[in-house]
Amino acid sequence: MKILITIAEAQNQPRAKRRVLVPTMGALHKAHGELIRVAREAAGKHGEVAVSIFVNPLQFEPGSDYKRYPRPEKADEEFCRNAGVDLLFRPSAEEVYPHDRSTFVEETSLSSTLEGKSRPGHFRGVCTVVAKLFNILAPDAAVFGEKDFQQLAIIRRMVRDLNFDIDIIAVPTIRDEDGLACSSRNQYLNSEERKQAAILYKALLAVKNAGKKPANDVIALAQKIINEAHLARIDYVEVVDAETLKRVQSAGPNTVLLLAVSFGKTRLIDNIRLA
Ligand code: AMP
Repeated sequence: MKILITIAEAQNQPRAKRRVLVPTMGALHKAHGELIRVAREAAGKHGEVAVSIFVNPLQFEPGSDYKRYPRPEKADEEFCRNAGVDLLFRPSAEEVYPHDRSTFVEETSLSSTLEGKSRPGHFRGVCTVVAKLFNILAPDAAVFGEKDFQQLAIIRRMVRDLNFDIDIIAVPTIRDEDGLACSSRNQYLNSEERKQAAILYKALLAVKNAGKKPANDVIALAQKIINEAHLARIDYVEVVDAETLKRVQSAGPNTVLLLAVSFGKTRLIDNIRLA
């Protein structure tokens, strides 16, 4: 596995092979492992898998967990090695963002709701760094998780709107045994919070087969279940169209329920497609 630190090193890598990129912020866990496995498959026998690890300051709003976000460098490196990664790109924030930077990438429609509303500037940070990674590493395809449903929709929109010649591959959400979606942030949860956080998946399963029920009833049911966990503080629970992310009147095919809920200081997001 080649470890690339500078942008020049990354850009000077020969690009003869099909390259599939998995962008991450590190603190790698089994969901990242699944993304890497899917990338390997998509790269084919002669292709290569690139993983980027970059805790992107631009997507953390002021006062959030940028500084305390876990950065287990050695463990991440081992993880990638064991997963058969070919290229590990781990740039510094100083090089990625020159102090006088003045160009950003902003998606302006899908970003205005849900996470975008709760975390102003978040998706501008995501789009900017993903566009930069696409330019630096020039992958043929890139893999993203459905756990970050809105992010995936926004990346697809950015790729379409800016004509990146890159296939976007989606990976279904990977969960722990009790259903909690794997996330690097789960390690912030204390044991009681961790136990109660399993309520989120219970709520998602309860609404999954909502049929054509009014969206408000589906939302109310999910909220009621989540509130059974006394440590849960709901930020939002919404039912939206899976492509436009606009609110819908009734659940059904092509709609998705998304939620953001805090347990203590830890904010978790999850979603499920409704049928
Ligand atoms: P992160 O390191 O949290 O920025 O995530 C890197 C990539 O892994 C993103 O595309 C995420 O959507 C994806 N990812 C994170 N957690 C999960 C999960 N539990 N299931 C599927 N994909 C995930």
